[in-house]
Amino acid sequence: MSNSSRKYLIAGNWKMNKNATEGVELAEDIVSQLGSKTSVGVVVCPPYTALESVGKAISESNIQLGSQNMNPEASGAYTGEISAEMLRSLFVTHAILGHSERRALFHENDAFINKKVLAALANNLRPILCVGETLEERESNKTIDIVSAQIRKGLEGVGEDQAENIVVAYEPVWAIGTGKTATPEMAQEVHAAIRKVLSELLGEEKADKVRILYGGSMKPENAPELLAQPDIDGGLIGGAALTARSFVGIVEAAAELAG
Ligand code: PEP
Repeated sequence: MSNSSRKYLIAGNWKMNKNATEGVELAEDIVSQLGSKTSVGVVVCPPYTALESVGKAISESNIQLGSQNMNPEASGAYTGEISAEMLRSLFVTHAILGHSERRALFHENDAFINKKVLAALANNLRPILCVGETLEERESNKTIDIVSAQIRKGLEGVGEDQAENIVVAYEPVWAIGTGKTATPEMAQEVHAAIRKVLSELLGEEKADKVRILYGGSMKPENAPELLAQPDIDGGLIGGAALTARSFVGIVEAAAELAG
């Protein structure tokens, strides 16, 4: 793989798709097509209502369970919200935090996302912290500044000892669900900049261990080239995670590179 100290991670973000029954069908298909491959980490992130049933469907496999969000508070009067402890009780191991849809549609800011990151880590959940620029920001050459600020603010207060539990996902907003993918070179440039910020925050040795996923219209056809970049350590997959064949195709591309 690009860096032997990092194992590829492919995470599927199902978004608001699949009820509990449909989720089990998809998870069972993924399990049977994936077999017992262990060279790549695999996470599926169904909606909250399918976490329990999907968790059971993958319990005998190497696939791990993730949530798409999480509230930073431990409990209390937060109608409609779900805590880290509730997720842990369903054997969830990862939480997607700060997805661009949550930032844009639900007005989540960096400070709130940072509270979630800290609460996730305190509860033994691995945050998948999402960052990325809009088309307008890219066109005005602000990509690196925007993404670096999102990383600094999102990881404020995270200690070096937690570095190995952090996952970052670079998802250019203009590439999500649009069919437009960043070229491997464009993505690598931002991933390298993210790793530089991580080394300022956590030290170079720890920063080298953080997995930085690419997200934005990744599919089996473009995955090999993206995943071959030195600082691209996996993918956060939306649309292509909704069918077993395409999701497993991306995992296979990573497995091929992992050797
Ligand atoms: C996502 O929403 O995290 C994502 C990357 O979506 P898509 O793969 O559909 O672009």
